[in-house]
Amino acid sequence: MSAAPRLTGRVVLPGDPGYDDAREGYNARFSRHPSAVVFCQDAQDVASAVRWATARGVEIRARSGRHCYEGFSVLDAGLVIDVSDLRNVRVDRARSVAVIGAGADLITVYDALGQVGVTIPAGSCPTVSIAGLTLGGGFGLLSRALGLTCDSLLAVEMVTAEGEVIRADERENQDLLWACQGGGGGNFGVVTSFTFKTHPVSEVSIVTITWPWGALPGVLEAWQSFAASTDERLTSILKLTARSSGEISCVGQMLGTGGELHRLIQPLVSARGTVPSSVSIETLPYLRAVGQLGGLGSDPDRWTVHQRQAQASFKNASAYAYEPFDEGAVAALTAELSRAPSARCLVQLDAHGGAIGRVAPDATAFPHRRALWSLQYQAYWTAAAEEKENVAWVERVRRAMLPHTRGAYINYIDAELEDWLTAYYGANVARLAAIKARYDPREVFRFPRSIPRSAPEAAGTGGSSGAHGDAPDGQNNL
Ligand SMILES: Cc1cc2nc3c(=O)[nH]c(=O)nc-3n(C[C@H](O)[C@H](O)[C@H](O)COP(=O)(O)OP(=O)(O)OC[C@H]3O[C@@H](n4cnc5c(N)ncnc54)[C@H](O)[C@@H]3O)c2cc1C
Repeated sequence: MSAAPRLTGRVVLPGDPGYDDAREGYNARFSRHPSAVVFCQDAQDVASAVRWATARGVEIRARSGRHCYEGFSVLDAGLVIDVSDLRNVRVDRARSVAVIGAGADLITVYDALGQVGVTIPAGSCPTVSIAGLTLGGGFGLLSRALGLTCDSLLAVEMVTAEGEVIRADERENQDLLWACQGGGGGNFGVVTSFTFKTHPVSEVSIVTITWPWGALPGVLEAWQSFAASTDERLTSILKLTARSSGEISCVGQMLGTGGELHRLIQPLVSARGTVPSSVSIETLPYLRAVGQLGGLGSDPDRWTVHQRQAQASFKNASAYAYEPFDEGAVAALTAELSRAPSARCLVQLDAHGGAIGRVAPDATAFPHRRALWSLQYQAYWTAAAEEKENVAWVERVRRAMLPHTRGAYINYIDAELEDWLTAYYGANVARLAAIKARYDPREVFRFPRSIPRSAPEAAGTGGSSGAHGDAPDGQNNL
């Protein structure tokens, strides 16, 4: 009989110094107590952890950057398999390829690639990890120009439910590669590295526009006839903040000159009945733009990013617009933003189209290729007493917008969402379930919103395993 598998890597147990730090997630709303966290140092540590847990019937969660909105990468009374020490970035300039450790945070990725004049399209937050971002799709301010993060993905190295290290690329396990392009984190295995196609980049131009809050209807009308159809080198985000904040804003990034950007934004700055409070356009080296948009300042030598730099309590939810908003939709948004519980509530619109929309909805697991923009309903608070009204507001505005929107984004995962399988994956649900059945038939990788091994009749709330993860965390003890 073979020896019982052992946990290898840096193991942190309850009572150990550093246990609280090891279990903490980015969203301070959740506080869970795993039986152990293992910080893996290589793929073999990950394999040992999976084997160790499955041999004992212990529940597991994969974790990289800890930014899951609902804290699903940590669980009570189970094993967290953390890959954040796998953060090496190797760039092969000649082949335009980069191999990135699954635990690398985005600033590490941008910095390493930027040193040699290349990048991948990814998100703005410096501490989000490449793993969760890519596996769910990955939107950022280069997405209309270069696609989602998952569109540049060429291969993954993954530890399976059997504890085997496999590769998925265009030659082997192609179905698994497809699933890793938007099928969501935590579903098929633990990714230990990603191989990406890289893109050359030198300078970019960025724009920030602000308006008094009352300009909202005019600005929204102008933005929605511009954002998804303008020159695809420009990606913009419209931030519709609560009325009590007093203003709304738009941020954009363009692979082009300041003059070109200035011309392109004219429909926005001269929107009917509106006058911007400020317009700023800057052309700068790409890495400086990354730092500026990520809130780190524009001097890379001064970037010091703590893993969970600005931990906050928040609730976010999402949806997609496939049609421009009519008067009813604008009125609903305006009404909800007028009665938001705090000035930190907002609805963020991320422009799609361009390179995102040129990919077929079934060419990768990410289905929302034809959407014009995504909406993110966001609320942030500090005191626990503020949680209830903020969560209720996010749910209220999401529901108010349901008649005007479709679907939702898996990376903006939302425990309140009904019919979530269809919302996240659309017509790709059945194929994702078949891939789940092939690579993880025992549903070792399971959490409250994981893909089931068979598609439910009407894709929606469950799957082959009944209560499917809606049971509270922590049925297992180490
Ligand atoms: C402040 C902030 C800013 C954000 N900005 C953007 C943005 O600009 N664009 C965008 O598209 N999204 C953005 N997001 C959403 C982000 O993409 C998701 O929250 C993402 O899932 C985070 O990944 P993570 O690895 O950091 O988090 P984690 O909590 O570690 O993991 C998230 C999910 O992926 C799974 N997972 C983690 N590592 C692995 C692995 N190695 N193998 C398999 N599964 C794994 C986890 O089990 C979990 O289900 C943002 C989130 C936050 C909190």
